[in-house]
Amino acid sequence: ALEALVDQAVVALERARLVEAAARDRARGEAEALRTALLTSLGHDLRTPLTVIRGAAETLRVSNLPEATRADLLLSIEEEATRLARWMSAILDIVRLETGQLTPRREPLALREALENAAARAEKIHPGRPVVLEVADGLPRPRLDPSLLDRVLENLVDNALKYAEGRVRLGARREGAQVALTVEDDGPGIPPADLPRVFDAFFRVHRPDSVAAGSGLGLSICKGLVGAMGGRIAAESPIAEGRGTRITLRFPA
Ligand code: ADP
Repeated sequence: ALEALVDQAVVALERARLVEAAARDRARGEAEALRTALLTSLGHDLRTPLTVIRGAAETLRVSNLPEATRADLLLSIEEEATRLARWMSAILDIVRLETGQLTPRREPLALREALENAAARAEKIHPGRPVVLEVADGLPRPRLDPSLLDRVLENLVDNALKYAEGRVRLGARREGAQVALTVEDDGPGIPPADLPRVFDAFFRVHRPDSVAAGSGLGLSICKGLVGAMGGRIAAESPIAEGRGTRITLRFPA
């Protein structure tokens, strides 16, 4: 009987070693994939705005242009520089999250206020686009980092406004021991085959009309930030009549 037990233990140990090795391989594979994606993005997303900036600066220097054309060129320099700055802080966020160098604050947070701020900001940037709030009464105050949550909501609302046309809904409700925050739109949605990958860094849904420029980093940063605060993020699509996207954040209440 003892021998049989020892045999079983040996088998169990061997199995544990295999599982561990597989997990290590997977982690290495993911790190490798991220590095490749980062380098590809460095080559592409960095070069395009730099080319525009250099071209515009050179034109301004060598030609005698009418005032209006000069203003246009200066504007495109400013826009491309802003895009570069945004892209670089996204890359920095990814690296900080990957290396565990981001320690969120944890303070009781008023969810209604956080959603109201997100809606107010959206209305300032996209006036005329309705943002509807559906916040349950008497919600608990989960311990979260207010500025990180703001960034997540900002990203999600921006996506909803970018990819959809109608109204955007922001919701908060209790779900047992958790609180759920939702951002919903009635846009074209995300193809089912792409749904599992939308939180991967640099992943973008291929759209023939290529709605809007993006880096494919927004949702992966959201996932990292939510995870760092002890929560989870999920995407559902379609949500009604073949359309719409709902992103749900869940945190311990
Ligand atoms: P980006 O918007 O920069 O491409 P994201 O990481 O924010 O990157 O989103 C990844 C992809 O998921 C996008 O390319 C987009 O096609 C899709 N997506 C995200 N949010 C929505 C949404 N609300 N409706 C439809 N598609 C979306």
